[in-house]
Parts: sequence; structure tokens; C-alpha cells
Amino acid sequence: MLVQGPGGNTSVKFGNIMWIKASGTLLSNAGMTEIFTPVDVQRAVAEIDLGEVSPKHDIRLDPEDGHRPSIETGFHALLPWKYVFHYHSVNALAHLTSEEGQAAALAKLSDLSPIPIGYSKPGIPLSRMIRESINGRESRVVLLKNHGMIVCDNSIAEIRNLIDKTEKRLWLNPEVDCAAEPGQQEFPGWVSFSGSGLFEQDPLLAKRLTSGCYFPDQAVFLGPEIPVLSADELQKRPDPCVQAAVIQGGGLHLRAGAPTAVREQLECLIAVLARIPKSWNPRTLANSEIGELIDWDAEKYRRALSEKNSN
Ligand SMILES: [Zn+2]
Repeated sequence: MLVQGPGGNTSVKFGNIMWIKASGTLLSNAGMTEIFTPVDVQRAVAEIDLGEVSPKHDIRLDPEDGHRPSIETGFHALLPWKYVFHYHSVNALAHLTSEEGQAAALAKLSDLSPIPIGYSKPGIPLSRMIRESINGRESRVVLLKNHGMIVCDNSIAEIRNLIDKTEKRLWLNPEVDCAAEPGQQEFPGWVSFSGSGLFEQDPLLAKRLTSGCYFPDQAVFLGPEIPVLSADELQKRPDPCVQAAVIQGGGLHLRAGAPTAVREQLECLIAVLARIPKSWNPRTLANSEIGELIDWDAEKYRRALSEKNSN
């Protein structure tokens, strides 16, 4: 419900040194292997002004450790707190994909004075938008449209309280049983993720599922769309970018051998869509917004590394 695959990033600052999760690593591996890498906070903030990640402006303090700092290093450096946690929680995504949901989230968290931020491409553009929107205000909770949460504090115990508190307040029960039975039909090269029962329970869920991308990691791991295909088309077509497809009358299928990160994103997407009330109108990302995520080298690197890590 909080973290899927290599998504999200956490950091801690010690003066001008910040340890941040490395791109493509799994937070769930933090107790077993070194997933954090140190960076220079001032240089990371200066990178936001530069407008690009440049080899001439290295922010890494241990370039030999084989890690690349998270794509989101900029806003971690910028936020004036010792601990910064960013994650794509299912309940937050269910709210932050629509205007109605965002208004509900702001009301549910009003005593924490959360700062809402519009959608932007992750990385430096998002860090810039956060800096402009925050504009000197101080808040421990930031809500990112069509993306997720940021919570910050100087105490790790308070971070935990804040995550628990915000998750409880934003909790939505799924309107359908997400653990639907796999379908009976088999298609070579594909594995049934859920039978048609899930969509018979909730036709709106099927419509939303095949209407586009709702958040960046969906585009990065599941591709630009989840198409509706006939059984024949499923065998012939799909573009290698298509990781999941709905078969007419046959439920939802996932490519056989898809990495764990892909499966977790699909589970997350279903869990998010099943929680969005029918009266809310979720916004999908524009084609241009999806294109800039899929073609981005930084994301290709994260996807490749997570494939290596997850199998
Ligand atoms: Zn993110």
C-alpha cells in the first residue's frame, strides 16, 4: 500500500551530506544491502537551477559506489528537514488523481496544512515546481498531483506518526474485491492476472483501467496503455511496451516473465482504481507527459536496474 517495486525515495541529511536512496534500488532491500548513496546538499540544490543533471556538475560524494542518486534528489535536498520520505501510496494516489479527490485529501489533512503541487515530470521540473509552490511556506506534508506524497520531519519517530496518520485519514475501502480469481483461459506468452469477474463486478473499473496512465510509475513500468485486445490480437500484436492487456471477455493478462516491479505496479493500479469513488473524475496523463517519461534515459536506467534486481 505504500511502496511498489523501486518506486519512491527516502533521504536523511547530516549537515551538507544527504544519503538518498539510489535510483532503481528497492527500499525493501535496505536491511540487506546498501541502497543509499551520499550527495552534496548544496550542489544538489544548485542542480535545480542548472535545470539538468550534468556530468560536469557531479553531486555524488562517492562516485565509485556504483549508484546513481534518485531522480528526485533535487526536492529532497531542497526541503529543509532532516528526513524526507516520498512514496506512491495507494490511498494517496486514489485521491490525487482527481480534483474531487485532491479537495477531499486537503480537507482530511487540513490540520497538517498540506501543500498541493500540480503535476510535473519527475526530476528537476518537479523539484522546480515544488520550490515555486512552497515559496518559503513550511509544511511537513506535500501532495503531488497524479504522483504521490512527501512527508518530512526532523524526527524519525514523527515521520512514522505522520505516515500512519495521513494513511489512516486517506484510507478508502476498495469498491470491488481486488483479489479476483484468475481466469480459466490460457494464452501462450501471457499469464492471467484476473478473470473477467473483476470487470463484471465493476464495469467502470475496466473502463478506467483501459483509459490511460494515472501516475508516472504506471507509464514507466506498464507502458503507455493497457489495451483491450481480442484473443487473436493478443497472440499477434503487442508492442513490447505493452506489459498488460484486457482480453475481450477474458479478463486482465500480464506478459509471462514480467519482472516483479511490473506485477507490483499492476497490483497498485488495480488497488488505486478500485478505491476511486464513482463520482470522482480521475485525470489521465497527456500523451506528451507519458512520452517524456518513457523516452527518458533516467527512467530507462531505473527500469533496467529494477528488472535485474527483481528476478
Ligand atoms: Zn515519485
